[in-house]
Amino acid sequence: MKRITPIFLVLFLYIHTPTATNHKPSATSVGASAFNDISISEGFLPWTLRFYNLMEKNNINIDWGNISSINVVPLKYGTQGIYSRDTKIILIQPYQIATLSTKAYNNLLLVILAHEIGHSQGFNHTSEYGVLMSRTDGGIYDVIEDNKLTEEFILAGFTP
Ligand SMILES: [Zn+2]
Repeated sequence: MKRITPIFLVLFLYIHTPTATNHKPSATSVGASAFNDISISEGFLPWTLRFYNLMEKNNINIDWGNISSINVVPLKYGTQGIYSRDTKIILIQPYQIATLSTKAYNNLLLVILAHEIGHSQGFNHTSEYGVLMSRTDGGIYDVIEDNKLTEEFILAGFTP
């Protein structure tokens, strides 16, 4: 979950994600129009919708206007995410970790997405260990084998 400089990010996306498409998930609640305007990379919609529904179910407001696109860049040096405040772009780099089950890997991607969306809402990193906005991934591996624990981990990061 490192951040890189925005200028590098833009070049990165330009080179690697020319086929990002704009989906219309047809969400209907308050704020849905901004959500529907987000351009989401092909294949990452299930995680985005899972996060969206988790927030809706728990009445947590997300300012979707702070996100212009969610792009997936599959590279070979680890799973991480980036949010650029300047471009409002979230970049997710998925990389299957051999020791993780499919369920854990899917939950890992959800946590990374939630962490980057947290940045989009103005949350900064905390020095606290094992919470959503921790700088490192410590603590994630304690929850991602279980869907409910994963969702509670994320919700805790979005509730004061
Ligand atoms: Zn971060």
